[in-house]
Amino acid sequence: MAGGSETSEAVQVLRRVFGYDAFRGSQQEVIEHVIGGGDAVVLMPTGGGKSLCYQIPSLVRPGVGIVISPLIALMQDQVDALRALGVRAGFLNSTQDVEERRLVEAEFLAGELDLLYLAPERLRVEQTLSLLDRGKISLFAIDEAHCVAQWGHDFRPDYLALSMLHERWPEVPRIALTATATGATHTEITSRLSMGGARHFVASFDRPNIQYRIAPKNEPKRQLLELLRTEHAGDAGIVYCLSRASVEKTAQFLVENGIAAVPYHAGLDSRMRAAHQSRFLREDGLVVVATIAFGMGIDKPDVRFVAHLDLPKSVEGYYQETGRAGRDGQASTAWLAYGLQDVVQQRKMIDGSEGDDAHRRRLSAHLDAMLALCETVQCRRVRLLAYFGQESAACGNCDTCLTPPQTWDGTVPAQKLLSTIVRLKRERGQKFGAGQIIDILLGRKTAKVVQFDHDALSVFGIGADLRDVEWRGVVRQLLAQGLLAVEGDYGTLVLTGTSGEVLRGDREVPMRREPEKAARAAKAKSS
Ligand code: ADP
Ligand code: ZN
Repeated sequence: MAGGSETSEAVQVLRRVFGYDAFRGSQQEVIEHVIGGGDAVVLMPTGGGKSLCYQIPSLVRPGVGIVISPLIALMQDQVDALRALGVRAGFLNSTQDVEERRLVEAEFLAGELDLLYLAPERLRVEQTLSLLDRGKISLFAIDEAHCVAQWGHDFRPDYLALSMLHERWPEVPRIALTATATGATHTEITSRLSMGGARHFVASFDRPNIQYRIAPKNEPKRQLLELLRTEHAGDAGIVYCLSRASVEKTAQFLVENGIAAVPYHAGLDSRMRAAHQSRFLREDGLVVVATIAFGMGIDKPDVRFVAHLDLPKSVEGYYQETGRAGRDGQASTAWLAYGLQDVVQQRKMIDGSEGDDAHRRRLSAHLDAMLALCETVQCRRVRLLAYFGQESAACGNCDTCLTPPQTWDGTVPAQKLLSTIVRLKRERGQKFGAGQIIDILLGRKTAKVVQFDHDALSVFGIGADLRDVEWRGVVRQLLAQGLLAVEGDYGTLVLTGTSGEVLRGDREVPMRREPEKAARAAKAKSS
């Protein structure tokens, strides 16, 4: 960094107002660029320090910095934190009554604010726009900018209106920020916000202190307890579950086993939620079991682990949630357990989701990418960063690097399984899920097998050389490789356009060996 920048106004504000010695990463470059009146698109991982990138220019440039954020629940806290530093900040959102709003508007018009946080839907109200017209604006900051991307995992229609900012106030610089953007999302942000002339600042998305691990799910709560006892005794952490019911059950299970844990989900009343959140921030070593709603914008530096007991819906979501671990840079764990049931359940949710086909295709693509990450035999970090368009070398700090998975040639089992599906369709026009198909392969005469005469099929019992869990692994990996698909309410397994290559013997199917199976094999050898 140039010697002269030492005394720049930005550096002075950093020290005087925020009490920090130096900028991190590309913060200073971004800040100087925006102070100079330029537009900026900033991609920086969680904890990278995005807030200062718009807060400092707002303090240095004349006028009020307008921050657009969808995180309404956090605005009060953000504003309180800034006020504690002596920054004149306020917010406008739907949680306020008329009186509170009027007060903030008066402060804005009187030039008594440095920063004004706005929920995006406020900009649909003409009153807000004319308010902004009457004050002096120093910049627009568009936080969580990926929300403007329809291709992204968290699209919000209100964000589409933000292209209007530039049309209405062309001279005001804009800075769009996000911690999660694939190449496609980045491109979409740029075009939807008409930021073609902006400078782009793309930080590395790598979080080297986070150890990524993905395990097959058998007894998730037990597996979690084992992880906490052996590696994270007394540590603060977040456990994510998909449903409120499993949040409750898991929290209770942990408490029964002597671990300080509290539930957090939208079904709890808001006072209890707030109480649990503030305990998490203040206390050492509390575990919060939550649905994904928990953790956005929460700045707790010493979260030592993030555990997922259910499969996240997208790689972006997974990256964002795991990113809440280890903001202090210390070693942390991101642990995920997933099983075939997760895939079936999510497919079902996608099939039943509202919205058009394009929307469903998008959700499917997100799920497929997540599955591919789970079943990869490559370094998890390499895959994760590649998803965000960044190249890297094997990290040495993920499960596949630390205990390289053995692979095996799964071509024959894949052929057996796919041809079973072919037969079922041909003979009955009926569709069946993984359970039935595995029963047939294993030669089990269950009531349902007998009912449909499946014990008379030529494939009945041809898969007895593998166990149930191994067949489930085969199904998951075929799904992850796009050689099989799930559809409908009952998790019906169907062939894909590429299944034929395997059936014809034109394609080999390498598979990741189940760690449990590998362990069993090793044990058998040693005894
Ligand atoms: P993000 O929004 O990118 O997730 P934040 O802006 O919340 O990150 O910053 C994460 C944490 O790092 C905050 O506690 C913030 O105060 C701190 N921080 C940001 N920039 C600096 C800096 N230059 N020096 C020290 N701490 C910083
Ligand atoms: Zn690795």
